[in-house]
Order: sequence, then structure tokens, then C-alpha cells
Amino acid sequence: MKKYMKVVKRLILCLLFFSMISFTYAEPKNRVLPMNLNNNVLLKYDISSKFLLKYNILIHKNLTFYKSHKLLVLILIGMFIIMGSLIVLLIMNIEKRKIQEKKIKKFAYYDILTGLPNRTYLNETLKNELEVAKTSGIGGVVFFIDVDNFKILNDTFGHGFGDEILVDIGKRFKELVGEDKFIARLGGDEFIILLKNINDRTVIDNILNEIVSSFEKPFYIEEKEFYLTISIGVTLYPKDGDNLDELLKNADTAMYRAKDSGRARYVYFEKDMNEKSFEKMQMQNKLRNAIENDELVLYYQPKVDLKNNEIIEYEALIRWISPDYGFVPPDRFISIAEESGLISKLGAWVFERACEFSKKINNNSKENIIVSVNVSVVELMNVNYISTIKKILEKIEVNPKSIGIEITETALMESFETNEAILNELIELGIQVSLDDFGTGYSSLNYLKKIPTNILKIDKSFVDDIKNDEIDETIIKAIIEIAHKLNLEVVAEGVETEEQKDKLKEYKCDQIQGYLISKPLPEDDIFREVFSA
Ligand code: C2E
Ligand code: CA
Ligand code: CA
Repeated sequence: MKKYMKVVKRLILCLLFFSMISFTYAEPKNRVLPMNLNNNVLLKYDISSKFLLKYNILIHKNLTFYKSHKLLVLILIGMFIIMGSLIVLLIMNIEKRKIQEKKIKKFAYYDILTGLPNRTYLNETLKNELEVAKTSGIGGVVFFIDVDNFKILNDTFGHGFGDEILVDIGKRFKELVGEDKFIARLGGDEFIILLKNINDRTVIDNILNEIVSSFEKPFYIEEKEFYLTISIGVTLYPKDGDNLDELLKNADTAMYRAKDSGRARYVYFEKDMNEKSFEKMQMQNKLRNAIENDELVLYYQPKVDLKNNEIIEYEALIRWISPDYGFVPPDRFISIAEESGLISKLGAWVFERACEFSKKINNNSKENIIVSVNVSVVELMNVNYISTIKKILEKIEVNPKSIGIEITETALMESFETNEAILNELIELGIQVSLDDFGTGYSSLNYLKKIPTNILKIDKSFVDDIKNDEIDETIIKAIIEIAHKLNLEVVAEGVETEEQKDKLKEYKCDQIQGYLISKPLPEDDIFREVFSA
């Protein structure tokens, strides 16, 4: 049987071979004739369908799953491709959204200039921290940092320059407290450093000292060297505030206290600081009525020409005689008037009284006597300042050449360009401009050339040590020489002794003012002296 099968198999193979040959070499017209082969037969004789020629047709063949369900398979593959593409698109979309969310978060939570967390981020972080502190019992500390006199730099060198410094300051903070610590920029020149899980005052003090003294190193912008200082207000949480607003408000109060006590330092918040703020508010309310209630008076202090010992000028100095506080010196209420905006009204009142006094005193004098008033920079920068001055000059009909103003060096530098224009207008009107407290503030010789001023008033602190301190002597001498080279006259303030007067005369100082000549006196006393002379 096997043999028989073998023979049949060979026969079929021969048949196939010949058919292949015949199909291969036959004329094309013959080749188109297909030959039907039964698949069952091929299988039975173990003949592979490989040997089939392409014109052979295999009948009864076992179809593969693909072939029998071709349409279904194709639909499924199509669906898989579509679904796969959808999934890929979805993933890409999620990634894109994540990137966008990151960008939005960056805008919403970070300061664009310095790249530091912003106020929103700080608020959220601090809120969380306060919650954590409530449960853990371990709090932390907030440093409210403000750059001293930043406005001067910004106004003088431009905002682009100021921005570069802010970026550098941010970097310096990071270097100091570490990248991992929370440092935020609140806006402007205000920064916050938040230190978590810390309540050891010695450790905090060390960090604060390090931060403050790190500003002894200069900043370099556009190859220029700059020295800056910072004032820091410190609040501990939860002690100084168990909510965000209170904690930051108190830190801000402490920061202002640091500024008031001389800048370049840190001050911890204390509860009575707020009480003092309340007292300040009360004083503000009382000061509001002081003008109407006739509680303000001007005292006048003479300035003497060292060439002939003649009085050539009087400086008007305000006093408040309050039914509640008694005799209040200007140092105690001028800043309150500035903060509350009362200063413009107060300044106008002072200017009008001084004009009246000048008119009266000049009616009794052959020489022109100048009466000068102290002007706060807040007042000077009021848009109506010049028009108010002009109105009063006209109203009182006083010669502007018999009027002077004194502005402190520090105040002037706070917004140099604006103040420069206003002072120039005053000089054009004929009013004398003096730079007060010279030597105590920030100004370089370079500025001295530009400052619209006729007179430099050397601060009392230099005069005080004229006998004991060689350096102060050298400084005074140098100031006088430079001022004269710049065509400015020099007044020395707070002269109390003959010795000081003699030295100043020797240094060719032009005028002196101080208790040696006279204390500030009420108008009546001045006239009594003038008429008795
Ligand atoms: P200032 O303009 O530097 O005035 C000089 C201050 O030193 C005055 O204090 C004066 O009384 C005092 N003084 C003068 N000579 C001597 C002296 O020989 N020895 C000593 N120990 N002190 C002397 P005062 O009157 O208390 O004024 C303080 C400051 O208040 C002034 O400093 C001025 O900046 C400000 N001020 C006074 N009146 C006004 C005003 O009407 N408006 C504004 N904005 N500020 C004013
Ligand atoms: Ca003055
Ligand atoms: Ca002064």
C-alpha cells in the first residue's frame, strides 16, 4: 500500500513538474489556462502548496483565520490604529497641558524679574506653614526685607539698572540662606525670607547678622560699584501673628522701625509697636485740627554773616503748642504730617506766615533779609506746590528774593530728577534754595554740581567735633573749599561756642547759625530785639 502511495505521489509530482514546465515554457496564450488542484489531495499526499504555479487554482483549501475573516480583521486593525492614534494624541495633549500649566503656574507664582516666588506663592506657603505650626507647635520666622534708598538708585540710574540690582539682591539672598529656603519678592524692593521650623533666637540672630553684613560687599552693575544697605523687620510665628495678614503687617511695622532707627539693621516686632502706631494715629487726628485751632507757631533763628556779624537771614522753625501734649518739637510731628498728607496744608501755612514775617522785617531793614522755611520733600513733590507758592507770594506781596527754602540732602536725593526741576523753578522765581543737613546723607560731589542750590548748610554733627576731631575739621575745610569752587555759600549749623566760630571763620565759612548767636525765638521777641537795637 505504501509503495502504491509512493508511486502515486511520484506520478502526481511528475504531473506537476510537467505542468510547471509546460506552463513556464508554453506560449503565453497557453499559460493563461488555469489548472484546478484539490487541496485535500495535496494534503493527503503530503505535497506542499509551495510547488503550485501561480496559474494553478487550489480548490478546497483550508483558509487561514485572516483569510476567512479578512474584513473583520481589517476593521479590528483599523480600530486599533485609530484608538492608538487617539491615545497618542491624548497623551500628547496631556503633556502639552502640563507644560502650559507649568507656564501659567510660573506666571502666577513666580516673579518674572528675579524668578523668585511672588506674593501669591508666599501667601499660600505661609498659610500652610501657619496650619502646620498650629499642629506641630514648632513655628518659624519671617524676615521682611526692604532695600534702603533704593528709590534714589532707581530714579538716578534708571529702572533697567534698578532691575539688575534687584536680580543680584535675589541671588545674594539665595547664596546666603540656601536654594532650598523660601525667598519671595513681594514687589518693588521688598523681599521676604521664610525660615521654617526654627525658633532659636541665637540661630535667627546669626542668620540676620549674616544677611545684613553681606551687604557690606558691593554690587557691580555695568562695571560700576554700588554699596547698598537693607532694613529687616522680623516676626516669629505663631507668636507675632497666627494669620497671614497679621504676620506680614507686623513684620512690615518692624521693618519701618528698623528704617526709623537708622537703616542697615534688623528689628524684631514687639507688641507695643502697634500701640505706638495707635498713639501716632491719635496725634495725627489732633494735628489735623491744630491749624484751625491756632496751636501752631513759628519761631525764627537768625543766621549771621561772618564777615560783618550782621543778621542776613532768619530760619522759620515750627512749634506745636498742643492742649493735650504741651510743647511739641517739629521732630515729633513733621513725619506724622508727612505720612498723613497733612504736610502740604501745614507747609502752606508755614510759607504764608514766613512771607508775612519777611515783609514786616524787611520794612524795618535797609538790607534785604531772607526768611527761609524748611520744606519736606513730600510737600515739594506735590503737583500743586509751585502754584501754591506763587499764590501766596502774590497774596502777601512779598519780594521772592526775601524768601528762601531749605531742603535736606537726603530728601532731595530721594527723587532727584523731579526735585531738581521744582528747585530750578523756585530759583527762577528768585527764591533762595539751601541744601540742609549737608554731610549726613547720600550725595556725591558729582551731584553737588547738578543740585540747584545757592547755599550749603553743613550739619551740626560736623561742627560739634570741630575742636576734638581732626577728621571733621578736614571734612569741613574740604566742603567749604569745594562749595566755593562751585559758587555756593556755606552756612555752619548748630554753632554753640566762640571756638567753633573762630575755626569756621578761619576756614572761610560764610555764615553761621546756632545757639551762640540766638536760639529760635518767637516773632515778638525778634521784633523787640530789632527795635531795641
Ligand atoms: P533743621 O532744619 O536742621 O533745624 C535746626 C534744628 O537745630 C532746629 O531744631 C534748631 O532749633 C536746632 N538748633 C539750632 N541751633 C542749634 C544749636 O546751636 N544747638 C542745638 N542743640 N540745636 C540747635 P528744631 O526747631 O527742633 O527743628 C528740628 C527739625 O524739624 C528741623 O531741623 C527741620 O528739619 C524740621 N522743621 C522745623 N520746622 C519745620 C517746618 O516748618 N517744616 C518742615 N517740613 N520741617 C521743619
Ligand atoms: Ca533747616
Ligand atoms: Ca539742618
